[in-house]
Amino acid sequence: MSAPFSRKHLSAAGLLSEARRLFARIPEQSGCDIALVDHLMSGLALFGLKYPSLLQFENDRREEATRANLKALYGIERAPSDTCFRERLDELDPRHLRPLYKALLGQLQRGKGLEGFAYLDGHYLLSLDGTGYFSSQKVHCAQCAEKHHRNGTTTYYHQMLGAVLVHPGHKEVFALAPEPILKPDGSKKNDCERNAAKRLLADLRREHPHLKLIVVEDALASNAPHIRHLQALDLRFILGAKQSDHTFLFDWVEATAQTTEVTLADEAGFRHRFRYLNGAPLNDANFELEVNFLEYWEYAPDATVTHFAWVTDILITDTNLMTLMRGARARWKIENETFNTLKNQGYQFEHNFGHGQQNLSVVFAMLMMLAFLVDQTQQLCDLETSRRPRCARNLFTVPDETVSPASTEGPSRLQLHPLSAFPHGYPTEEARLLSLATSRRKSTNTPGIAGVSKVSPGIAGALDM
Ligand SMILES: [Zn+2]
Repeated sequence: MSAPFSRKHLSAAGLLSEARRLFARIPEQSGCDIALVDHLMSGLALFGLKYPSLLQFENDRREEATRANLKALYGIERAPSDTCFRERLDELDPRHLRPLYKALLGQLQRGKGLEGFAYLDGHYLLSLDGTGYFSSQKVHCAQCAEKHHRNGTTTYYHQMLGAVLVHPGHKEVFALAPEPILKPDGSKKNDCERNAAKRLLADLRREHPHLKLIVVEDALASNAPHIRHLQALDLRFILGAKQSDHTFLFDWVEATAQTTEVTLADEAGFRHRFRYLNGAPLNDANFELEVNFLEYWEYAPDATVTHFAWVTDILITDTNLMTLMRGARARWKIENETFNTLKNQGYQFEHNFGHGQQNLSVVFAMLMMLAFLVDQTQQLCDLETSRRPRCARNLFTVPDETVSPASTEGPSRLQLHPLSAFPHGYPTEEARLLSLATSRRKSTNTPGIAGVSKVSPGIAGALDM
């Protein structure tokens, strides 16, 4: 019997070998006798092995055992010195790192690692969100965004727009190339998240012309220009919508006779109340731009009420309410499972390994996301081969298809479904997802390399530790 998917392609060694192959194609710069590919692979090792500082890496690279490990897994012939490392990466155009994101996603697909991630009609959920990873009043580079304070001081900072494939039933997330939010060369104005989203989505569509995606974003995204851009790129969407930003839309839904209301109850004691309307105008200024509106209230057994509203281009029916709600809420995984992991699990996100004059900070951020992508793939492989039950894989064969036919009486209808409508217990899974929002992952402490912990088991297993 064949394995569920190929370990060869998705092993740490397989992914890092692909990284080395693509890095070796980047044009060499003059002035250093150590190959650029060794610099870049050292960058991946820095984050993959969770080094707390460049100094520690600098010290360890001189030890024979470390050199052997760097050679064995990362193919590093010679690790560069601290100074050479920073100088070389500072000169590198970060766009040279983009092809590796595409290649690793391709490996994941070929290795069938993304099979369980298709969410709705073969589409993957793509969560986008911006985050800051550097801020200083002293250290800065040519690309730093600037905030000028009234007292005459300036804060320099870097942000990026992250893009990760998420699934409500999976802890793992898979990063696509992030887009820096900076101050463009020669510009006096800071860049903004909306412009970064335009670039990110256009690049993504060019690099993945056939990838079926549902973009999930916060309420900042539910504006007409962005929705038109998503439509032009053939991207589906579920976007947050706030009543304060969309008074016209909320009033329209309230006043329209076709607005439908459905309430579901689950065995964990939660009630899920939905209100929806297909084909509503986004706002009065963009009356012709129709969206489907979904509002949701979750009533917890402890009387806590959580409220969300979204706009989507996916047709809303009585049978996909839970699916849409869960997909929309999976957006938080970019915060909880991505940025927080990068901050708390040894990747040293927000840590200053050196800022450089040109690109170093951005190059480090992109290498860190690549190391994270390798680790997440290892985590998925470990789960896949551990024979533990994967509740997530079957999540969408379960949910609200069990909802009984809707009543046709009246413009608004209330349906309360019995506990037996959820024989597979998906509300428990939902409750677990909610608990993830406040819990951190347990760290994987791997002894053997001083000061280095939280190395992914896939990488640790390939090393002599
Ligand atoms: Zn900077």
